[in-house]
Amino acid sequence: PVSSQRKRLISDADLAGISITNPTRRLFGKSGPTKLDIAVYYALVGDFMLPHILGRPVSLVRCPTGRPQDCFFQRHPFTGMPSSVETFQSTNSEGETKSYLSVEGAKGYLALAQFGVVEFHTWGTTRKQLEKPDRIVFDLDPGERVGWREVVEAAVHIRAELEALGLVPFVKTSGGKGIHVVVPIKPKLDWKKLHRATSDIATRLAASAPDSFTTTMGKENRIGRIFIDFHRNARGHTSAAPYSLRARTNLPASTPVSWADLETIDAPEDLNYSSLPGLLATSGDPWSDMGEFARDLPLLSRAG
Ligand code: ATP
Ligand code: MN
Ligand code: MN
Repeated sequence: PVSSQRKRLISDADLAGISITNPTRRLFGKSGPTKLDIAVYYALVGDFMLPHILGRPVSLVRCPTGRPQDCFFQRHPFTGMPSSVETFQSTNSEGETKSYLSVEGAKGYLALAQFGVVEFHTWGTTRKQLEKPDRIVFDLDPGERVGWREVVEAAVHIRAELEALGLVPFVKTSGGKGIHVVVPIKPKLDWKKLHRATSDIATRLAASAPDSFTTTMGKENRIGRIFIDFHRNARGHTSAAPYSLRARTNLPASTPVSWADLETIDAPEDLNYSSLPGLLATSGDPWSDMGEFARDLPLLSRAG
């Protein structure tokens, strides 16, 4: 379902309020983008990206020096954090209560972009129903000697298998070498049951093409195969948000695409901070109204 209509979630007043310290500081070398380029990218894609991050727990990748080795993953509130970013408390299964982050409006989102945040990651759930996830992801991680074309074919195969289970899968590039198959689901299962259900589905997917897939972690199992990483669906785990940039050379974006367009991508790194805003203006949003396609996640094992 591709729609070219988009709601404006970021107003001119929001944009006028952006101010950036060290706007000309470059990331990842002399010819890399500036802090301003990154903030502009997030402003331009905001109407597309915000529906997928608002109200969800977020983690961030920050790169304060601009050097790749200094980037770090941030799950909790931090010094200097813009006040428009919200925090909330949550207790994990070990009984530890911690503070987490969420973005609840355009202001918080733009404030993070101007602050120098490079990547946004989300949980597959919303704050309002934290213990009942509404999205799952199958993170396809190609091992050595697996080319991009094979990852695309694998995703298309998985699409058919998931549709046979009554689900409506969506697809995005990871921004790295892989692909994320994302599925909206009705928020009914708790995290344990959900993780178990995604494990069972991944096992079935792998069994349908055992030469192409593995569901075990070890790198040696992955040579020539694609690891179906279903552990992104465990509580507290995250995956890159749709339209998030990735902190590496040329800042590729984790890009939602239609299933038809997926097969036309030759090099996912061509979808990046400089090219994507222009492409989106003509292609529209391949993930619009995703929530309307939520289905019940099938439980393949009785123990589930
Ligand atoms: P690729 O195509 O390269 O696999 P990816 O985004 O899928 O790209 P993975 O390595 O498969 O990358 O997934 C890593 C996931 O773990 C990310 O989605 C992110 O949300 C999460 N993550 C990344 N860094 C950290 C970290 N330091 N601590 C905890 N979780 C992290
Ligand atoms: Mn991956
Ligand atoms: Mn992974």
